[in-house]
Amino acid sequence: MGHHRVKVFLRLRPSCRPSTAIHVDHAANTIRIDVQKQHGGGPPRPYNDQMVFPFDSIIQSSCQETVFDQCAKSVVEDVLGGYNGTILTYGQTGSGKTFTMTGDTKAYAHRGIVPRAIERIFAEKVAKPEAGIVVHVSYLEVYNEGIYDLLPQRRLASAVSLTAMEDNGLIEIKGLNKMHCNTKAEALKYFFEGERHRSVAPHTMNQISSRSHCVFTLFVERHSGLRTLEEVTSCKLNLVDLAGLERLKRTEVGGQAKKEAMLINKSLSFLEQAVYAVRQGTGHVPFRQSRLTTLLKDALGGNCKTVLIVCAWAEDFFLDETISTLKFAQRVK
Ligand code: ADP
Ligand code: MG
Repeated sequence: MGHHRVKVFLRLRPSCRPSTAIHVDHAANTIRIDVQKQHGGGPPRPYNDQMVFPFDSIIQSSCQETVFDQCAKSVVEDVLGGYNGTILTYGQTGSGKTFTMTGDTKAYAHRGIVPRAIERIFAEKVAKPEAGIVVHVSYLEVYNEGIYDLLPQRRLASAVSLTAMEDNGLIEIKGLNKMHCNTKAEALKYFFEGERHRSVAPHTMNQISSRSHCVFTLFVERHSGLRTLEEVTSCKLNLVDLAGLERLKRTEVGGQAKKEAMLINKSLSFLEQAVYAVRQGTGHVPFRQSRLTTLLKDALGGNCKTVLIVCAWAEDFFLDETISTLKFAQRVK
């Protein structure tokens, strides 16, 4: 399909101690990092003094509704229009990925992209009964290269096979449950059930879901006309809350936790390579390098609209992580 542009947004966390080194130009949609300006000086860093990173938009102190309208809405509309869509949140732990994707589960006004996408899709289903919209959802977690179904919570066979379905080229994850949802309420119920499973899974000890990649998928079929097979179109919307990017230096623990952090960083860098290759639009895309890229194979290229929401702290303490995050964003843009 030639050049495939990934839209990249930056969401800065609200901060009570904003860094003096970070300058946002909302008119130009750029962020400039003035490394020498950070509080307390600190050791010299291996970067140029000034770095400028452009984005499709930079979001600061915006409400969840605005974030949905700006970053996610057009992808959801495209899914209703026959495309596949993928929205990913990327950033260090605590930067707001889950807040952006899931939202505050105790405050409806602060619900995130997933509940709002569900609402939009079911609004379409109700408004256009003649479109014959049928919705299924699935929710999975990738942890330490294992794939876990969250509906209900269980580990899938270690040799889980991903097969491309020949008729529509979609990746099918064998054994993953797809729940049929008649109403918005049912889809929300499954989503929140999966959310609960994220936090009680036996493999997660303290840092809960920030050590796994979570993929909530809405499958949207249209059974129009005479309901013959030829008239069914199916699209999917993948909503991906990526594992937190960690700097090993800060992770004081060794052993298992360190191994985990290394796996996470590796899978994020494979994701970066895959998105970069898709963006270039030519040649081989290295999808097979990790579970994450394998299962996102049909969600990044071809007939798919992709949006990356990069989340970052705007404080000096995390400036190194913020710079790595911004660099990732630029490479996939
Ligand atoms: P991550 O998933 O990236 O590890 P979270 O989304 O869990 O981070 O955010 C950490 C904490 O900060 C949560 O309590 C969350 O509610 C809060 N938070 C994150 N981003 C925002 C924001 N933009 N506005 C208000 N609170 C936020
Ligand atoms: Mg999180």
